[in-house]
Amino acid sequence: MQINITVITWFRRHTPAVHFLVIALAVLLYLLWPPGAILLIVLYVVALGVASMNMATNLYVDTFRHVRANGDAGGVQGRVADIALTFDDSPTEGTAQVLAILKAHDVKATFFIVGAHAAARPALLRQIVQEGHAIGNHSYSHKSTLPFRRPAAILADIQRCTETITDITGVVPQMYRPPFGVVNPGIGQAVRTSRLPCVGWSLRSFDTVTPQPARLLSRITRQLAPGAIVLLHDYPAVTPQILPELLQEIKRKNFNCVLLSPETLLP
Ligand SMILES: [Zn+2]
Repeated sequence: MQINITVITWFRRHTPAVHFLVIALAVLLYLLWPPGAILLIVLYVVALGVASMNMATNLYVDTFRHVRANGDAGGVQGRVADIALTFDDSPTEGTAQVLAILKAHDVKATFFIVGAHAAARPALLRQIVQEGHAIGNHSYSHKSTLPFRRPAAILADIQRCTETITDITGVVPQMYRPPFGVVNPGIGQAVRTSRLPCVGWSLRSFDTVTPQPARLLSRITRQLAPGAIVLLHDYPAVTPQILPELLQEIKRKNFNCVLLSPETLLP
């Protein structure tokens, strides 16, 4: 679901005015037909909420959810196509195990780093970089209250994560993935100001809520497609359980895992 680009630009520029307009309309409508006013407010709030939870609408910020495929695995030619594996919230207690599996299969991935986790486990973050994986910014605090903070505070959190990563590794992260995949006017404004591309995913594994390995593995392999960005986490116990088989299946299906970078991102 993607909303018309002109409407998006207009909405982003005038968000407070649109809120005001809808409220004014609701007040007017209330005088004529009270249920209609309530319906208008409910629909508006639901629409904003759906757009917050669904990065693909691009309502608040342009998002990138695919990587350039460079091939057509499974197509007539059967050429190898690129996909990207991403691990969020790293470094965690599960990172070392995931790194060992990736190394054993000679596969590179992109880790979206939480600044506070990096400060607590700097050696693991250095290991991620030294082993040739890419890293992105996934906020400093990753707090559930972050989406409700003002744009300046969200931007400060993004910058604090970047500074932490750079202090530890010397690498300046070039991509941002918002915590929980939630975007709203405040996050949109902060990310646009940061000038970091906002990275989502095309394939959500739900590994944090799927403890059954077979179910998780089949959900991911079923949806693999050229250019997919796969969302995983390195801390659930189930992820390293399925990872060796997933990597074999990726190879068998003629997919090649590439690192994410601003140059290879697609909408
Ligand atoms: Zn996260």
